[in-house]
Amino acid sequence: MAAQVHGFQTEVTKLLDLLANSLYSNKEVFLRELISNASDAIDKLHFMSLTNADLIKDDGDFKIQIKADKDAKTLTISDNGIGMTLEEANTHLGTIAKSGTFDFFKNLSGDKAKDSQLIGQFGVGFYSAFIVADSVTVLSRSVNSKAEDGVRWFSTGNGTFESENIYKETRGTEVILHFKESELEFLDTWKLRQAITKYSDHISTPVLLWEEKFDENPSVDNEEDKEDKAEKPKVFEYVQVNDAKALWTRNAKEISEQEYNEFYKHLSHDYDDPLTHAHNKVEGELEYTSLLYVPKHAPWDLFTRDQHHGLKLFVQRVFIMDEAEQFLPNYLRFIKGLVDTNALPLNVSRELLQDSGVTRKLKKALTKRALNMLEKLASDKEKYQEFYAQFGAVLKEGPVEDYANKEQILKLLRFSSTLDANPIADVSLEQYVSRMKEKQDKIYYLTADNFAAAVNSPYLETFKKKGIEVLLMPERVDEWLMGNLNEFDKKEFVSVTAPDLKLGELEDEEDKKKVEAAKEEYKDIVQRIKDALGDKVADVVVSSRLVDSPSCVVGEQGRMLTAQMKRMLEAAGQKLPDEKYTLEINPTHPLIVKANAEIDESRFAKWAQLIYNQALLAEQGGLKDPGDFIKLVNELLVK
Ligand code: ADP
Ligand code: MG
Repeated sequence: MAAQVHGFQTEVTKLLDLLANSLYSNKEVFLRELISNASDAIDKLHFMSLTNADLIKDDGDFKIQIKADKDAKTLTISDNGIGMTLEEANTHLGTIAKSGTFDFFKNLSGDKAKDSQLIGQFGVGFYSAFIVADSVTVLSRSVNSKAEDGVRWFSTGNGTFESENIYKETRGTEVILHFKESELEFLDTWKLRQAITKYSDHISTPVLLWEEKFDENPSVDNEEDKEDKAEKPKVFEYVQVNDAKALWTRNAKEISEQEYNEFYKHLSHDYDDPLTHAHNKVEGELEYTSLLYVPKHAPWDLFTRDQHHGLKLFVQRVFIMDEAEQFLPNYLRFIKGLVDTNALPLNVSRELLQDSGVTRKLKKALTKRALNMLEKLASDKEKYQEFYAQFGAVLKEGPVEDYANKEQILKLLRFSSTLDANPIADVSLEQYVSRMKEKQDKIYYLTADNFAAAVNSPYLETFKKKGIEVLLMPERVDEWLMGNLNEFDKKEFVSVTAPDLKLGELEDEEDKKKVEAAKEEYKDIVQRIKDALGDKVADVVVSSRLVDSPSCVVGEQGRMLTAQMKRMLEAAGQKLPDEKYTLEINPTHPLIVKANAEIDESRFAKWAQLIYNQALLAEQGGLKDPGDFIKLVNELLVK
């Protein structure tokens, strides 16, 4: 069969173009990727062999071998892992299946310098070979294939690759890089050894490098011997470079930050360092080792239903499965890492995991580990901000999903507040409580469509005047979260848009008297507006919360849905009842005073409309019929 030529998936071609042009500052990462793939391939086969030992009866000695040939200008990375069939090679080495691809390409700007920086965050896996090679040959044979069903795959990275069946004696994969003239330094043994050490120290498979053999019995140093040596042909052999001990089994004290970081990249296929990690060994009744990481960047699919997440599961140091999502709750789905336990059987399946008591216990323990890790991270304000900007919205699902850990999760949340009006959420509930006013016993908050709407909301006026801090919550998830929360640290959460908002002890006698007096004093205008609006409103009252605005509306149930939430619910097919609001007015506001001076009742009705619609607009960020409203405003302006 002749080799067939295939086009790469468009994304791959784009990626390869970028690679060729990118100012790769860290070229040697191609080694990390290829070693990582070889190690994955071996892990997969190792796992399969647990239930089918025959698969490896000819060769159970797993290893990765790396050989440089300076004359041929090639570097070959071989493994005796699971291998690929022709079909598998065509898809796996012709497309990008990685999560994040979509986001990555969406974010490309066309600006080469910027884009090559993005590559650094994306991770290009196998294709990184083209950073140093101008062509790549892959020879592979799947563990399930016969020798004559081996595969040869070849590409120069220019839009196409060719592939065909070949005869391959042994199982596994060889990746042969034909080096660019400019990158030949990577063929230097010393340089190779250094890079391979860096990228394979944490891997449990032995990595062997083809090196010149040292003379173990150097003879006495005399003239004849030297001549002798010069004539001896160089002898090469494979020398193991790493100690092939899985990183997490080692003592945390002996593991460097760099090793943790490299291992994270291998594990998560992320290109960036993680923000932090937590490595724990637990002995006793439930034995396990866990290594958890917080990434720096949220994956694009963090909020999609079938997001890939979960930990790598090992049983007695044997890799069992990827993305075991049974060990962490959903709101911690951004955590990467692994768990290795002796408490599960080697032949455990996803189904078995699902309803195992051990899984439940592990989940409880690992959740605690993860939360403690975040708590620790929070002590570094800058890093925590970085974390929170990426994952804060996910964490907010926690207090509702995980009742047992509610208090601890609430402490990890951050909000904006009226105190510094900073759109970056950085106020914790503990902080809020610690600076509450003397007689304050409630936590006040405001949910809104966006930060600007929140910070300018008329509902805040009296709080500002009294110097009471209000938490500002402009995120979508906030409304849902607050709808499900009652208190923190025994202090009730109260929305500033609540009807008959009681400031309790914070309201001084004078305030109360004023409100009572105002009720009496302005009962006529209140009645007048009520008559004018009729059954459009539930009620009209004198407001105690307005200072600078003429009016506001409050919902019957206390919590008003923001316009955004309404749109969302309606889009989801929910029928929302036409809720009537209570209109609160600020009777000393010039607009109200002016309206009240109008003697013509039909004209006054228009003022009443204006006052009401304005309040609706401020609250909901939109009106059902904006055209009508504009007409009304114009009419009143012209008169
Ligand atoms: P990733 O490792 O993140 O899946 P890569 O681009 O590194 O992405 O590799 C793409 C796919 O190619 C792998 O998922 C695997 O299926 C296949 N592959 C790459 N290298 C090997 C190998 N040495 N042995 C078997 N399969 C491999
Ligand atoms: Mg890979």
